[in-house]
Amino acid sequence: MDALIILVSETMQGEQVKNTLVLLRNELRAADNPLFNHAVKNERRIIPVLIIDSNAELGPSNKWWLHQSIRSLNLSLKNNLIVRCGDKTKIIPELIDTYQIDELVFGNSYNPLERSTDNKLKKVIEKKGVESVNYETSLLLNPSSALKKDGTPYKVYTPFYRQLYQDLEFNSLRYNPVDIKYIKHNHVNDQSLIDKKLLSPYEWHRKFEKDWCPGELGAMKKLKLFVENNLIGYSEGRNRPDLKHVSLLSPHIRFGEISPRQILEKISNNMSSDKEVFFKELVWREFSYHLLFHFPHLTYKNLQPKFDKFPWLNNRDHLKKWQRGLTGYPIVDAGMRQLWNFGYMHNRVRMIVGSFLVKNLLIHWHHGRDWFNYTLLDADSANNNASWQWVAGTGADAAPYFRIFNPTTQGKKFDPHGNYIKKHVPELSDIPKKFIHEPWLYQQDDLIKTKSSDLLKYPDPIVDLKESRQRALDAFKSISK
Ligand code: FAD
Repeated sequence: MDALIILVSETMQGEQVKNTLVLLRNELRAADNPLFNHAVKNERRIIPVLIIDSNAELGPSNKWWLHQSIRSLNLSLKNNLIVRCGDKTKIIPELIDTYQIDELVFGNSYNPLERSTDNKLKKVIEKKGVESVNYETSLLLNPSSALKKDGTPYKVYTPFYRQLYQDLEFNSLRYNPVDIKYIKHNHVNDQSLIDKKLLSPYEWHRKFEKDWCPGELGAMKKLKLFVENNLIGYSEGRNRPDLKHVSLLSPHIRFGEISPRQILEKISNNMSSDKEVFFKELVWREFSYHLLFHFPHLTYKNLQPKFDKFPWLNNRDHLKKWQRGLTGYPIVDAGMRQLWNFGYMHNRVRMIVGSFLVKNLLIHWHHGRDWFNYTLLDADSANNNASWQWVAGTGADAAPYFRIFNPTTQGKKFDPHGNYIKKHVPELSDIPKKFIHEPWLYQQDDLIKTKSSDLLKYPDPIVDLKESRQRALDAFKSISK
């Protein structure tokens, strides 16, 4: 245990001020944070604490982001953030004793693993006579109260949106983070332990540094840029990976560096239909959390049990080629390489690569989900599991299994000039535009004539689209009897 000096036992206006431990995890922001709002409004004195849980299912990209986000939050909190690594059911009681804590405040969690630890934690601190207070910190509505009229959870997105969100207005919390009062301490975070826990020794994360700016400030800048330049035209443009019409806010939202409320407030003056389309995407995120909360087996079981008998092939060589962007289908390979190099993939392309994996390659969606969890900066168990089940046709309100995307047609439609492909698959940068989506049609002679040795390196398709489509439909028929 670090050496500590406790310097406080003050009173405010004659009354004993409560010492509050603010436990942070997916709401890494100083503004519009119900936990800090609670502290300011109730005149609490706080220690903000973040615990890196060894059991958390974070991939290396998520970890890198968290590492950066912690640094940024600590600055916003005037270097008061205590960061510890380990089991929170052990660390928090220790901190409670050390700082004479009267109250624990933390945000709701919907991850089944975290929920069970939270319940354990509540019991442990109850025994110590410490109160615990919970707030909704990362969603617009708490899924436990968002139910249909008959009291059951929603399984279909459209009524979920219409009945719960369509007409609601949300405003940010009005307090000033400058008014947060801290318990004085001299705890020094063990930076080398934090680095060890969060940074991969392979320094793979270095490549993210130039493209992303984790933290509250980075999130606000990105939101401003999006609202000023890209929100108009979002409805159509969001499907085009070659254009800049999406917000790229997902990792910031994932770690709660910005809240959906702050986003809605910022776009509130926009009167275009694009605003509603964008809002609906944020509600898709709410829907994923709703599914995770009410159907926690979303993370390990098909929501439609008939898929439990599905004859997956799970060819390891194909999985590797998919992960590396070497399938021979340019739009799929561009997406998978964007993911590897930028820790992000455009939503339309996530759907295309997902369909290709699950349907054309007959590889279980768990493998896709795991790779995304490993590589995505925005990897999030609600969105990732719900989206993979959606793509695979195994989930609630999912794309039907028999709707199989043709990657070539999708590429021609959504990356018509091949600019997205050329950006991410440099071997194809010299190919004439008419062959960009079907490089196999470019004759071998012409190929050699281009003198582009890179082009020669680009692989042939690993499966035939027509045959693999039929194979998927036959597999689906076999479980539908
Ligand atoms: P924008 O279009 O600017 O949307 C704004 C925000 O709305 C996003 O940041 C996100 O929070 C939310 N959002 C947008 N689309 C969706 C959607 N379809 N479902 C749920 N929320 C959405 N998103 C994640 O945040 N984490 C994941 O792990 C994740 N895994 C996915 C896996 C698959 C197979 C698929 C098809 C989608 C996945 N998504 C995931 C959803 C979506 O692709 C991303 O949220 C989106 O691409 C993020 O980019 P953006 O911030 O520029 O989106």
